Amino acid sequence: MKPLPVGLAAATPTALEPRLAASDVVSSPPPADADTYVPGPASAPEAAPVPDDAEAKEKDRLIREMIRQAPDEASRGEVVAALSAYPVRALQVVHDYGTRIEIYDFQAGEAVPEYLPTLSYANVAGAYNSKANVLGTDRANASPFALIHEFAHALDAALNDVSNRGEWNGAYTLARNTNRVVRDYAKQDASEYLAEITTAYLIPDERLLPLVEQGLARGAHGMEEREFMRMHQSLSNGSLHRIDPDGYALVDDLIKHDIYEDKPRAPSPAMTAEEWHAFEVARRASEA
Ligand SMILES: [Zn+2]
Repeated sequence: MKPLPVGLAAATPTALEPRLAASDVVSSPPPADADTYVPGPASAPEAAPVPDDAEAKEKDRLIREMIRQAPDEASRGEVVAALSAYPVRALQVVHDYGTRIEIYDFQAGEAVPEYLPTLSYANVAGAYNSKANVLGTDRANASPFALIHEFAHALDAALNDVSNRGEWNGAYTLARNTNRVVRDYAKQDASEYLAEITTAYLIPDERLLPLVEQGLARGAHGMEEREFMRMHQSLSNGSLHRIDPDGYALVDDLIKHDIYEDKPRAPSPAMTAEEWHAFEVARRASEA
């Protein structure tokens, strides 16, 4: 792809992902830092894609069945457009695992759900609670970058936490120690590494600049323009291949092969708000 207008050296790692329930909630990185997603104001949504072949129709069906809540059809269309980057089989695996997607409208006064507490942080764009098996984001933050990243966490969970495997930990450790990462947030842990490089893998080089420009048009989430660009400049397939070939090979295998060969985890249907509340009460009682 042609380089982004702003090209700076790799950023220093600064971001930490807030976690209130460390083992349960995997949230998107906070945007105030250099290597994180950035929430932004609601903007004119993209038109919902019109499925034009069997594969697109199947993706549309699977994604829509996973959306448990969304403010409107435009919002659903944005989710469909973003997650259609995944192959049908990956969507099927997560769909069958029971993951559900929720898009909120906090500007309209909607409450932050109890199972995704980190969404109340101004600098967190999206989150996935692996216990509740719910992925959520405010509509203002529902960029393809954030949605693909969070969905990767669900895919990781559905595949028995593939990021815990030795080869993933090895690639993660090497990438972290040699600074060969598409974004600094990938250095957080093996799970974030998987989510970040899966996102890069699924964004074709020619789509990156338009997506970044869309983000800028939405206000760059209040960030400096060049910082926003620098944060995303390597988040595409070709950059991943160049920067982290080992990680590229792993995610390529994950997307193209593993999900066909591995026996997915038994379904864990997404909890309702009531079920989550009862789960938390029971857990606190057991820890008391
Ligand atoms: Zn994450």
